[in-house]
Amino acid sequence: MRTLIVSDVHSNLTALDAVIAAAGAEGPLDAVWCLGDIVGYGPWPLETVRRIRSLGAVCIQGNHDAGAIGRISLDTFNHAAREACRWNGQQLDDEARSFLEGLPDTVAVAGFTLVHGTPRDPLWEYLTSHTDAVAALGSIDTRDVLVGHTHHQFAFEDGRGAALPGLGGLTVPRDGGRLVVNPGSVGQPRDHDPRAAFAVYDSEADALFLRRAAYDVAATQRAMEQAGLPEPLISRLSVGR
Ligand code: ZN
Repeated sequence: MRTLIVSDVHSNLTALDAVIAAAGAEGPLDAVWCLGDIVGYGPWPLETVRRIRSLGAVCIQGNHDAGAIGRISLDTFNHAAREACRWNGQQLDDEARSFLEGLPDTVAVAGFTLVHGTPRDPLWEYLTSHTDAVAALGSIDTRDVLVGHTHHQFAFEDGRGAALPGLGGLTVPRDGGRLVVNPGSVGQPRDHDPRAAFAVYDSEADALFLRRAAYDVAATQRAMEQAGLPEPLISRLSVGR
């Protein structure tokens, strides 16, 4: 069974579709897990929620999803993020809104805990260090944990430390220490690689594969311009940071 793992899609439907195509080209996909921030920043919030729903994805809520539906205040967002999140929220219909409202903060599936931030603070806390990774593993009941939120793709193995994928990706076998894996961001990568980031979990190989997919960045940028979204959010997509 092959599971596509995505996070931080951020209303970038072009990037999501490129990821689905790239993952699907390597073999059939049986499931999709989504680690939150379906909306925010990008130009296609409604279409992206609909695509995620049509995939039957196991999904959790991210801070931008919570902000777009008014579950949390936008006061703590920076100016550009706040403007984009407000606009994203205005584009949703009732069905998309209630889908986002119904998403849990944490899900356990196939020996993985899925959270957007960290297990102890699923919506807000950034997992950025070895200390954070060890703390995350100490606070879950499953073997491994999948996180998003930082928009940085990486894998941490307990006892061995962190590994960053190279251009060809990274294979992470599930037979050593417990894992903390971030598939990276589909819609707004910040690890200096503008390609959409994702992961695939192959249960037969019992390994995770960290991957990237090139997509039409200019098409997303044009749609953002037309929507009047803040310029810094548009230009950063070209450089992936
Ligand atoms: Zn995000």
